[in-house]
Amino acid sequence: MKPIQLISPVDGSVYAERTPLSRDAAFAAADRARAAQKDWAARPLADRIALVKAGVARLTAMKETIATELAHQMGRPIRYGQGEMGGVNARTDYMAEIAAETLAPHVIEDSDKFRRYLARAPLGVVFIVAPWNYPYLTTINTLAPALIAGNSVILKHASQTLLVGERLAQAFHEAGVPADVFQNVVLDHATTEALIAARAFGFVNFTGSVGGGQAIERAAAGTFTPLGLELGGKDPGYVRADANLDAAVDTLMDGAMFNSGQCCCGIERIYVHESLYDAFVEKSVAWVKALRLGSPLDPETTLGPMANKRFAKVVRDQIAEAVAQGAKPLIDPALFPADDGGAYLAPQVLVNVDHSMRVMMEESFGPVVGIMKVKDDAEALRLMNDSPYGLTASIWTQDYETAEKLGQQVETGTVFMNRADYLDPALCWTGCKDTGRGGSLSYLGFHSVTRPKSYHLKKV
Ligand code: NAP
Repeated sequence: MKPIQLISPVDGSVYAERTPLSRDAAFAAADRARAAQKDWAARPLADRIALVKAGVARLTAMKETIATELAHQMGRPIRYGQGEMGGVNARTDYMAEIAAETLAPHVIEDSDKFRRYLARAPLGVVFIVAPWNYPYLTTINTLAPALIAGNSVILKHASQTLLVGERLAQAFHEAGVPADVFQNVVLDHATTEALIAARAFGFVNFTGSVGGGQAIERAAAGTFTPLGLELGGKDPGYVRADANLDAAVDTLMDGAMFNSGQCCCGIERIYVHESLYDAFVEKSVAWVKALRLGSPLDPETTLGPMANKRFAKVVRDQIAEAVAQGAKPLIDPALFPADDGGAYLAPQVLVNVDHSMRVMMEESFGPVVGIMKVKDDAEALRLMNDSPYGLTASIWTQDYETAEKLGQQVETGTVFMNRADYLDPALCWTGCKDTGRGGSLSYLGFHSVTRPKSYHLKKV
């Protein structure tokens, strides 16, 4: 098999190289996972929870190494590199805390004559296909509940973050999770799809691009394998006339630029009430100019390179096209001398934009944001919904009731008021339209990795 190379965005060098499993070895891994799942599911829930938490603790102990590796693998500035571990712990703790209640049988009748109840059964082998942008968080969302609920797990991580799956496997195995209960594998696309098509899994969670999600759905066609598809976004921010301007600028710009804009729920388009528009734009430009683009290994850097120069090219093309169509770029790239025309990309704020431009309609997944002036809620609502995506929407106002009413009409997975680019483990992480289907985290996250099983027992 041809090796998979991880090209570091820091300097374009090969940072890691791994040979993907052959088809036979991949099917053998799935067989081992299936065999190991029975004993794992038979263990008491408290044991499984303890082992998963111990795995996360081991992983957290490696956070300094992880931060350096993330900088090399996908360009996250070293000063932010340990940040994912906070979310990994919070999400695991929450799912562990609600597991017993969520997975307990729902008893309908327990009398002299009958015991009738609804149980939740694990789905068998859960397959996680993970992206590179938040490589630990996107994995833990499924890994923790899947293992806690009694499934075995096979993880195929992104080629851009090959070492992440290895770190997770190392941590969980050192903590005592059996090797065949959680396996990290390196797979090419063809073998990934062949396994799904052969019904090797009880559930597949895919987090990534729309095109990737479509390929996974096609591979699963006719197998009835349940799929969770957490795909792209083009998340809007809407700043109403009564918003706290400084807080809105700070959170929305951070939401647009953090991780070089490579957040599924990053802010990609902003609609501002005409009364605040000029001030919002001026403050946003000042906010962005204060970013420091440079090597992610430099502790002063707040904006690293994009994970791959081909991702930066998509953003450069979108910006150039929009400018050719009349958009006005407010950031002079000369202010960011580290912009090398490749993975290192100066941030950009665009005005004079409209929805005929790709930069306002297609996912950019980079450090660019378009800002439009709106006259009222109705116009903002129409523009927020004029999108193929629906992951999150961020409304800025002091009017809680209006925000809630607007939220009911926004086609989105999550409505935020006065915050953005955030995941609450107690709420379901989900989307609509091209953002996909299914949900992770919250009690519903356990429903994704288990199935209902009915018991109707007549006592004689
Ligand atoms: P991607 O290219 O679709 O890859 C995601 C994962 O799927 C990788 O492991 C990739 O493997 C694999 N993959 C892609 N196409 C495949 C195929 N045809 N067959 C088998 N496996 C395939 O996405 P990405 O560039 O890593 O991630 C960025 C995207 O993820 C953005 O669109 C972002 O919005 C989305 N995302 C969504 C969420 C959410 O919660 N909704 C969260 C995070 C990211 P290789 O790396 O080996 O190609």
